[in-house]
Amino acid sequence: MDSSSSQPNTSRNATSVCCKFSVVLPGKVFLPGSSEYDSSVGSYFFRTARQTPACILEPNSAEDIEAIVNVLASDTGVKFAIRSGGHTPNPHQSNVDDGITIDLRGLNKIERVEGHSNILAVGTGAKWGDVYDYLEKTGRAAVGSRESSVGVGGFITGGGLSFFAPELGFASENVVNMEIVTPRGILCANANENADLFRAVRGGQGNFGIVTRFDIKTHERSTYWGGGILYPESSEDAQLQAWSDLKNGKYDPHAAIVQSYLFFGAQKSFMISNNMVYLQEAEHPVGLAGFENIQPQVEGTNTMRLDTTKNFALELQGWQPLDQYAVYVTTTIKFSPSVGKKINSIWREATLLISDSPNVTSVLTYQQFPPQSKDNPNGMGLQVDDELHKDHLIVIISIYWHETNDSERITNVAKDTMDRMEAAAAGENALHTFKYINYAAYWQQPARSYGEAANEAARGVSAKYDPQGVFRKQAVGFKFQ
Ligand SMILES: Cc1cc2nc3c(=O)[nH]c(=O)nc-3n(C[C@H](O)[C@H](O)[C@H](O)COP(=O)(O)OP(=O)(O)OC[C@H]3O[C@@H](n4cnc5c(N)ncnc54)[C@H](O)[C@@H]3O)c2cc1C
Repeated sequence: MDSSSSQPNTSRNATSVCCKFSVVLPGKVFLPGSSEYDSSVGSYFFRTARQTPACILEPNSAEDIEAIVNVLASDTGVKFAIRSGGHTPNPHQSNVDDGITIDLRGLNKIERVEGHSNILAVGTGAKWGDVYDYLEKTGRAAVGSRESSVGVGGFITGGGLSFFAPELGFASENVVNMEIVTPRGILCANANENADLFRAVRGGQGNFGIVTRFDIKTHERSTYWGGGILYPESSEDAQLQAWSDLKNGKYDPHAAIVQSYLFFGAQKSFMISNNMVYLQEAEHPVGLAGFENIQPQVEGTNTMRLDTTKNFALELQGWQPLDQYAVYVTTTIKFSPSVGKKINSIWREATLLISDSPNVTSVLTYQQFPPQSKDNPNGMGLQVDDELHKDHLIVIISIYWHETNDSERITNVAKDTMDRMEAAAAGENALHTFKYINYAAYWQQPARSYGEAANEAARGVSAKYDPQGVFRKQAVGFKFQ
């Protein structure tokens, strides 16, 4: 839906709550028809997320958000959405029709924490590119998104897979403290204070409150080896063998690979890409040789070099199709070349079904599962002893298209394709139940995939910090059981 042409269909309830906000937050409430409203709706990365709420709130402090939560708690009927960078492709997750959207982009301050040279305080509304800009000259790196435009808030509360994942785990494990607004007020959450909340939010997105600031560790790392290479699809067997060799060898925490099988509708061509880094200042490291040496490569596409996080993230950003409809859907598998081969052929068959959609891009991506932290566990129900990082991969199908009329058909193909992939993986005893929330489709219930113990803990945290269930019942997005 285009923001400029849309007029929301809004109930009286949502409209009257917007009126209350006009009193509580003067100058920060935007109604349909205003340029601020259109600009906020139009700024969602994907068209699939451009819903039209009754009003958009643009707070710029934790106190503003506390006032918002108090109003929401007094009107139990109204739905609301929490938005940081606006990168989810899912409709009604960080935006909502007939409800209130809280646009957090104004909370985007980045500053060093006094007395702690390795900790950076980052507002939820900042983009990872802003963080990398800030750190560029310091020789330090943050564990953030591999693409610069992604928002800090959704990325971290969903876990966060970065260039550093094989070494440092999810981005959320590199957070040492958060400021979060719950119905119990503005709280700090860290390993010592509100530790149950601190754990649950990391993987729990907006189920418990609104995080306003993350204090994240930075790591000494200026330049390291990385970049991308495109190969023809005939290299498939060599690509799968490279994964197999990586997984069967000694675990290398410095080698991070994102492998994508790509279909570009404009050229009607299939290709394979590896975007990779080796987290050392060493050229052509042995740890990536299995992928880097695959031949043939598409001429002129090899960008492997020594560079900074900022530049690697800008390079990947350049690959992203812009202003499109999109669907992401994910699963987790225990990798073997035979299961990879089956999944690839299911994706190829499905891609041919939608290849007539003008300029469609269809992508199947494999990424390493990160190791889990014993000292700073998240809320995703993952156990250190499972050691999924040794032999599991996260699988994502992402499809991008232009035509509104193709939305239902392509979404159904994505759903059916993932069902078939999961059946194929299950047939080889290679299917894991975990679904990574930042890549999950709206029908997938990723929070439930964390297992009963994590769901029980989440229910306890919700009852303690949000007894009335404001976030549980009124916030849109993925829910625990
Ligand atoms: C171009 C692109 C590149 C990507 N690259 C990566 C990658 O390298 N690694 C990776 O792991 N993922 C990646 N993703 C997926 C990305 O992590 C998710 O889409 C994530 O939700 C984006 O964060 P955001 O703040 O932009 O999202 P938003 O759409 O603003 O938020 C998503 C959800 O997060 C929750 N949320 C947001 N802010 C807060 C808050 N302050 N408090 C509580 N809950 C909050 C809400 O439930 C919200 O609905 C990428 C996505 C895109 C489109």
